[in-house]
Amino acid sequence: MTRRQWLAAAASASPARAGAAPPVLPVHQVLDRKAKHEGPHERAYWEHIWPQAANDVARCGVRLAMTYAVGEVERPPSRTPVIHGLSRGKLNLVVTSWIPFVAVNTCTHELLHALLLDIFENRPPGLWGQAREFRVDALATRLWLLKDGSPVKGPARGYLKRLEAGG
Ligand SMILES: [Zn+2]
Repeated sequence: MTRRQWLAAAASASPARAGAAPPVLPVHQVLDRKAKHEGPHERAYWEHIWPQAANDVARCGVRLAMTYAVGEVERPPSRTPVIHGLSRGKLNLVVTSWIPFVAVNTCTHELLHALLLDIFENRPPGLWGQAREFRVDALATRLWLLKDGSPVKGPARGYLKRLEAGG
């Protein structure tokens, strides 16, 4: 997939929602320039996984405002990864070659961690950490199966306020 095709596919994957205007969640997708971007997994991401995740998140009472960029993920040895191309004041979503789809939409799962404010704390160890993952998977499943994002609407508004305040 070329960058032009990627940007066109990304723009068409943004959900259009009618009715009252919910608060805006700015999401910045960064395409890792080193990643492989052609193949069945990547096609599945743009045709199914991302559109489903975008629609799932829209059910949580927010409207996505998408921006896109090409960036780079550096993985220096013995250090945490360094990501270029991020945008301040937005929910950054980095697209690499590693796009798993396990039991639930992994993209929805990770976006829910942000909306539920989980990203502002370290993952709790042991059972509490497992419980947090179970809660996110249950909410992602509820979004997919019942199209119901009502339990996330309150925390999502809190996340937006935190983003507006500089995160
Ligand atoms: Zn998780």
